Amino acid sequence: MTTIEHWIGGTTTAGTSERTSVVYNPATGAPKSKVRLASTADVAEAVRIAEAAYEAWSQTSVSKRAKVLFSFRELVNNHVDELAALIVDEHGKVFSDAQGEVQRGLEVIEFACGIPSLLKGDYSDQVSGGVDTFSFREPLGVVAGITPFNFPVMVPMWMYPVAIACGNTFILKPSERDPSASQLIAELWQRAGLPDGVFNVVHGDKEAVDALLDDPRISAVSFVGSTPIAKYIHERGSASGKRVQALGGAKNHAIVMPDAEIDFAAEHLSAAAFGSAGERCMAISAAVAVGSAADAIVEAVTAKALSVKVGYGRDAASEMGPVVTQAAKDRIEDLITAGEKQGARLAVDGRGYSVPGYENGFFVGPTVLDEVSTDMDVYREEIFGPVLSVVRTDSVDEAIALINSNPYGNGTAIFTNSGESARRFQRGVHVGMIGINVPVPVPMAFYSFGGWKDSLFGDKHVHGPEGVSFYTRAKVVTSRWPQVSAPSGASFHFSTTAR
Ligand code: NAD
Repeated sequence: MTTIEHWIGGTTTAGTSERTSVVYNPATGAPKSKVRLASTADVAEAVRIAEAAYEAWSQTSVSKRAKVLFSFRELVNNHVDELAALIVDEHGKVFSDAQGEVQRGLEVIEFACGIPSLLKGDYSDQVSGGVDTFSFREPLGVVAGITPFNFPVMVPMWMYPVAIACGNTFILKPSERDPSASQLIAELWQRAGLPDGVFNVVHGDKEAVDALLDDPRISAVSFVGSTPIAKYIHERGSASGKRVQALGGAKNHAIVMPDAEIDFAAEHLSAAAFGSAGERCMAISAAVAVGSAADAIVEAVTAKALSVKVGYGRDAASEMGPVVTQAAKDRIEDLITAGEKQGARLAVDGRGYSVPGYENGFFVGPTVLDEVSTDMDVYREEIFGPVLSVVRTDSVDEAIALINSNPYGNGTAIFTNSGESARRFQRGVHVGMIGINVPVPVPMAFYSFGGWKDSLFGDKHVHGPEGVSFYTRAKVVTSRWPQVSAPSGASFHFSTTAR
């Protein structure tokens, strides 16, 4: 079995650690490779290299940095299928969805190609007699990204194109479940002309993460993952003086109004709940059916769930693949069982799902639970599997109140033909990303992505303008070029009048 190694200073390295973790192909259930797990010393070495590369990279002109970004964009664009295949074999999602993931990441690279415009400062002429003021932003130094398994290409791409374009050097700690794509990305950066040491990949688990959080030479940490770990990253990283943005888990609701187009809503709900086997932070896991919409939407979504083609991700006919590990499959099936025991009606049961030829794969079939209440485990937990819970309410206001009482606030959507209901919803929900007849409202790369409440710790969202702001800090310069013969105007008190 091959071992996936770190990428530090432009080359692969095993580092000092003997520890490894097994990477599985979720469709076959078989071990595929091993990944090295970095020691604290390996992380320290990566930081040393990244710090050494920072001086030259941060002084490289913004137009030269943009040229590297353009070359990188071309290379990623030419390797979409190769990256997608690596995603399928370690994550399990279907090939077309993996291609879409790379495409969404490419859009962030394209955004970062505009870095000369994004870093333009402000200039105010003659703010006082003979005095001008201008502002500009500088990079932070060495920054780190710690990312989850569910988007092994896209989520890291929310971070490093922007961080590197801004002049920082970067250390990526990808998920140990699907680490291979990050190696290819590192090689593409090198081929694009990025100097060695600017982009580094350190594989690992808690030991590597803690070393990144504690190292005083790292200025900022971006994290995406589950809520308990996000909270931990925010607290420990902040305690060591870092800037931290930590995106957490989610429980995304979609309201279905009685005036909604039911077939349209059922089709989109089904794609949003079961696409990528529900392993998306923006997946819809709770449908909130208002009044008379309930019976119709449950019937339509049940039909859709039963027709989803579940199979190996490389099979072009497959619409949904396996979940990531046996442990994830067991956990999801246990939650379905708990839902049934606690009084939900199991409209479609995905437990014990088997795909011919892939009997050992980690498959869970699409599942629909109706008559779910907010005290049930299946509602309170982030399931992160292909399970849609239907909660019934009487009005749009009750539905909005239900969403607002949930601790998460990542994404939410409403299906309606009423502009009045949609506007009341968009203004009333305490959630970061909102869809009107769009169930997975992921913002384009030139906007920023992020949730509220337990879905984000820190105050900056990722990519877009907030990403540029996160990876830079401002300087404001007030300048005067006095005529040698003029009176100096120096005074021991602030000016009492406009000058
Ligand atoms: P996870 O929290 O288990 O792991 C995320 C990262 O943290 C990985 O790199 C992992 O190695 C590291 N990690 C895990 N346990 C750790 C510990 N005890 N100490 C230090 N580091 C640790 O998340 P996951 O299972 O890989 O991903 C799924 C989760 O990510 C879901 O909760 C999902 O909602 C969330 N997610 C959120 C967003 C978002 O934008 N808000 C996007 C994608 C995924």
